Amino acid sequence: MKKSEKKTLTTGFGMPVDNDLNSVTAGAKGPVLIQDAHLTEKLAHFDRERIPERVVHAKGAGAYGYFEVSGDVSRYTRAKFLSEKGKKTDVFVRFSTVGGERGSADSERDPRGFAVKFYTEEGNFDMVGNNTPVFFIRDPLKFPDFIHTQKRNPATNLKDADMFWDFLSLTPESIHQVTILFSDRGTPRSYRNMNGYTSHTYMWYNQKGEHFWIKLHFKTEQGIQNFSGEEAERMRGSDPDCSTRDLHDAIARGEFPSWRVEVQVMTPQQAETYRFDPFDVTKVWPHADFPPIPFGRMVLNRNPENYFAEVEQAAFSPANFVPGIAASPDKMLQGRLFSYHDTHRHRLGANYHLLPINASKAAVNTYQRDGAMRPDGNGGGGPNYWPNSFGGAEPDPALSPPAIDVSGQAMRHAYVLGDVDFVQAGDLFRRVMTEQDREHLVSNIVGHLGGAQKRIQLRQCAIFYKADPEYGERVAKGLKLDASEVKKLAALSQGDRVKATS
Ligand code: NDP
Repeated sequence: MKKSEKKTLTTGFGMPVDNDLNSVTAGAKGPVLIQDAHLTEKLAHFDRERIPERVVHAKGAGAYGYFEVSGDVSRYTRAKFLSEKGKKTDVFVRFSTVGGERGSADSERDPRGFAVKFYTEEGNFDMVGNNTPVFFIRDPLKFPDFIHTQKRNPATNLKDADMFWDFLSLTPESIHQVTILFSDRGTPRSYRNMNGYTSHTYMWYNQKGEHFWIKLHFKTEQGIQNFSGEEAERMRGSDPDCSTRDLHDAIARGEFPSWRVEVQVMTPQQAETYRFDPFDVTKVWPHADFPPIPFGRMVLNRNPENYFAEVEQAAFSPANFVPGIAASPDKMLQGRLFSYHDTHRHRLGANYHLLPINASKAAVNTYQRDGAMRPDGNGGGGPNYWPNSFGGAEPDPALSPPAIDVSGQAMRHAYVLGDVDFVQAGDLFRRVMTEQDREHLVSNIVGHLGGAQKRIQLRQCAIFYKADPEYGERVAKGLKLDASEVKKLAALSQGDRVKATS
C-alpha cells in the first residue's frame, strides 16, 4: 500500500468524523447510543459489502494494457479499431479459473477464462474467451447441468468425481476439451504463460458488406508453461493465489506480458462444404486448412488500483460487438449472448454498464432511463423515446451486419454424435502431444477418474478408446480395468454403452 497525504476522515456523506475508535455510549460501560450515526453507517455498509460472486469464473485477476494492429485485416472487417497498422486501443483483461469459488486456488485443474475488453471508438468490444480453443458442450441447454457437476455435491458440499465423470461420460462431445483439460495445459504455470482463444466462431464483415467466419487466437509471447499435476497440487497449498500474484508482480516489475493475436478466416462458401460444422465449439479449425494470420499484439502494462472497483466489477459479454464484428450461429455462443449480460444485471444491477471499468469511452446515446444506482445525468431533459422529432440520437442503417440465410424447422434438433466427434481428441493425443504429455495426461486422468464408480470409469474409458485405442487402454490400465471390456464398450453405440453401464 502507498502512503498518502494527511486527510480528515469523513462519513460517506462527507461529514468530518471526530473519533473512529470509540462508539458513543451512555457511560463508560455502555450501552451504545443509536444517535452515533457514524457507527450505524459503518456497520450497515459493512453488512452489505458482498455482492453475488460470479456463478462461473469467480476467481480472477485483471490488468490494463493496449492492443496494437500489426497486420492489415481491413478486407475482412470494417471495425475501426482494426482499420490500420499501428493503431492502438486500450484494453482491460481479466483472467480467471472457472469452477472454483472466489477464494479457490489458482492452480486448480480447470480451463482459464481469458476476457479482453477493447475500449474502441465505436464502443466496447469484448472478447470473452478461454485458454482452450474448444468447449465441453455445444448446446447452451446443457450448460447449467455441466457447471453443477464441476462444483459441489448438493448433499456433501464436496467436489464429486462421480458427478464430474458421470456427466462427461454421458456427454461424449466433451472428449476434446477433456483431453486438453487433463493435459498439463489444464494447469497453466501462470496467466502470462497461456494462450487465449475465442473458441467460438464469429462473423467479421467489411465495408462492402461481405462476411467471413473467423476465430481469434492470442498466443503468449512468454511461451506456454504448465505445472505438472504434482506441482499444481503443491501450489494449491503453498501459494493458492500464485497466478494472481504472478500477474501483479510481473507488471509491477515492468515485465509486461504480451500476446500475438492471430485470426483464422473461413469464407461462407468454405463453411457450406466444410467436412464438419464450423460453428461447433467442440472442434478447432485445423491450422493446415485455415492458417492463422497474425494481425495484432496485446500488451498488459498497468495494474488495477483497486481490486473490487476494477476487477470484481468488470463485466464482460460476448454480446458486446462493434460494427464489423457479429455473432455466428454457434449455439453455445447464442446462449452466452443472453447469459452474460443477464448475470451481470443480477450481480451488479441494471446500470452496471455505467461503472467506470465497464463504461464505453465512445459516446453513449440511448433511450434507456432510470434503474437502481443511476450515477450519470440519466439523459438529462432530452427525449426518452424513439422515434422522436426533438433531435434525439438516431439509428444508422448503414451499420447493419450482412444478412445471412437460415432455413429449417423450428424444433429441438438433436445433434447426432458421429465418429467426427472423436477425431480431434485423437489427433491431439497421437500427433500433437509428446510422449511425456501423454504420460502426464494419463496419470492426471487416472488420479481424478479413480475417484468415480467403476461403471462410470468404464464408460469414460470407452470414450477415450474411441478417440484413440491406445489412449483408452492406457487409462484403463492405470485404473486396473479390463481393457477388453473397454474395447467392447467402445464398439457399442452411445445409447447401448449407457445401458450397459447404468
Ligand atoms: P497443428 O499441428 O497445426 O496445431 C497444433 C496446435 O496444438 C498448436 O496450436 C499448439 O499450440 C497446440 N498444442 C500443442 N501441444 C498441445 C497440448 N498439449 N494441448 C493442447 N494443444 C496443444 O494441428 P491442427 O491445427 O490440425 O490441430 C491438431 C490438434 O491440436 C487439434 O485437434 C487440437 O486438439 C489441437 N489444437 C489446435 C488448435 C487449432 O486452432 N487448430 C489450437 C490449439 C490446439 P501452441 O502453438 O500454442 O503450442
